[in-house]
Amino acid sequence: MQPTFILALDQGTTSSRSILFDRTGSIVGLAQKEFKQHYPQPGWVEHDAHEIWETQLGTLVEVLAKGRIQPQQIAAIGITNQRETTVIWDRATGEPIAPAIVWQDRRTAELCDTIRSQGKAPLLQEKTGLILDAYFSATKIKWLLDHTPGAREKANKGELAFGTMDCWLIWKLSNGKVHATDVTNASRTLLYNIHQLEWDKELLELFDIPASLLPTVVASSGVLGNCEVIPGHSIPIAGVAGDQQAALFGQLCVDPGMVKNTYGTGCFMLMNTGEKAIHSSNNLLTTIAWQLDGKTEYALEGSVFIGGAVVQWLRDQLKVIHSAPDIEKLASTVPDSQGVYVVPAFAGLGAPYWNAYARGTIFGLTRGSNQAHIARAALESIAYQSADLLRAMQADASIPILELRVDGGATVNDLLMQFQSDLLNCHVVRPIVTETTALGAAYLAGLAVGYWQNKEELRSLWKSDHVFRPNIDTATRNNLVQGWQRAVKASIVWANDHT
Ligand code: ADP
Repeated sequence: MQPTFILALDQGTTSSRSILFDRTGSIVGLAQKEFKQHYPQPGWVEHDAHEIWETQLGTLVEVLAKGRIQPQQIAAIGITNQRETTVIWDRATGEPIAPAIVWQDRRTAELCDTIRSQGKAPLLQEKTGLILDAYFSATKIKWLLDHTPGAREKANKGELAFGTMDCWLIWKLSNGKVHATDVTNASRTLLYNIHQLEWDKELLELFDIPASLLPTVVASSGVLGNCEVIPGHSIPIAGVAGDQQAALFGQLCVDPGMVKNTYGTGCFMLMNTGEKAIHSSNNLLTTIAWQLDGKTEYALEGSVFIGGAVVQWLRDQLKVIHSAPDIEKLASTVPDSQGVYVVPAFAGLGAPYWNAYARGTIFGLTRGSNQAHIARAALESIAYQSADLLRAMQADASIPILELRVDGGATVNDLLMQFQSDLLNCHVVRPIVTETTALGAAYLAGLAVGYWQNKEELRSLWKSDHVFRPNIDTATRNNLVQGWQRAVKASIVWANDHT
């Protein structure tokens, strides 16, 4: 008998990838294609939905061809995707009515301000778990309906369909037979009631969006349709989750209190809170983690705007390193930052501070401070900001954290990971397979078709590469954290004094 595989389609912000996994959860094939970013005006970011589909399909075909794998060897397909990015298409022709509006796009910021001035933010947070922001899909949908000639009339007649990228891919893969999205993606639209588990009529009215546009919402794990684009073959599409939720699942953070942090350009931290949706008092998001085996589980989510990006800044702007990995060598030439703190608030501060006017600052410089101290402080700022998020999560959830599971490009940096463990006073665990996003989608799909039996089997597959254990005493830790908090406070004072 030929071996079988699970195929994960990882539709990211800058590239589409197809990754094949075997029964042990190991990667056996990968294909990747980048696609164009369009910036038609300052603050606008668009993708061509056709190009997204073509690159995604291209990688699917390529990964099978490269590994000489027959379509019948694919037990199921799982999809994970950049979240919130919005496309609307014509149901009859399958043609997008306009370019997709990407999550980073700020064109609807003023619309959000108007809705905020009507006092609607608390209602939105209560129903959707989200903060009213241009980031999420609702105002993007409204913008497309209001600015595309004829769109509103067509929408009112039920001729248009809305989808995030998972939904668009499902439509294309199924040859237009299935218009569905999963709960995790629905929970990022500002239109989905995460407690009632339905599209919310009051919110649809608030944003003036006809219900006829909306996809059916399905579980994250379960066969929702078939991929029919390979002639003569039908492969079940059996798992779907937005990228961060998929990563949480791929890290097997399946019990309440389990947390993962992804260290990329920015950092994304999610904590599993089980079947309880926890309202955040610390500006975190409440989101659906997944729906699996008839149960809906939730997560708290927070992000750091400038994570690995501070390393790019040292490389590209200050030019103190040639490549990102050099930072570890440079920072290791000094035993500590000698009281220097870098607050990389280049684009303001995110949770738990939320200050749009804060800007990057360096504190504690002396005559003896050199490049290495600044590099070390910059690296440490990634860990301090992540620790701030984790503290906010702990405060909201009142759940003790046993360990932090990590992934993303910057986790190869042992110095950073050790410092993170020192700061948090908990184990920081780096898995062997760090492609956790695709892995999570594969797991969700594999569970649905019996490729894997249950979460216990998956747990046995998850393997740690390295465990970083805390190695400083409480007094030192408290000193470090106090210094960081002073630095953040000072950068906020500087921002708030602006006239
Ligand atoms: P993204 O998915 O956001 O593009 P990645 O997961 O690919 O991010 O990680 C890239 C980020 O990791 C970059 O910001 C880069 O500066 C940072 N990075 C890469 N290698 C290292 C390293 N050895 N030490 C610290 N940061 C690193």
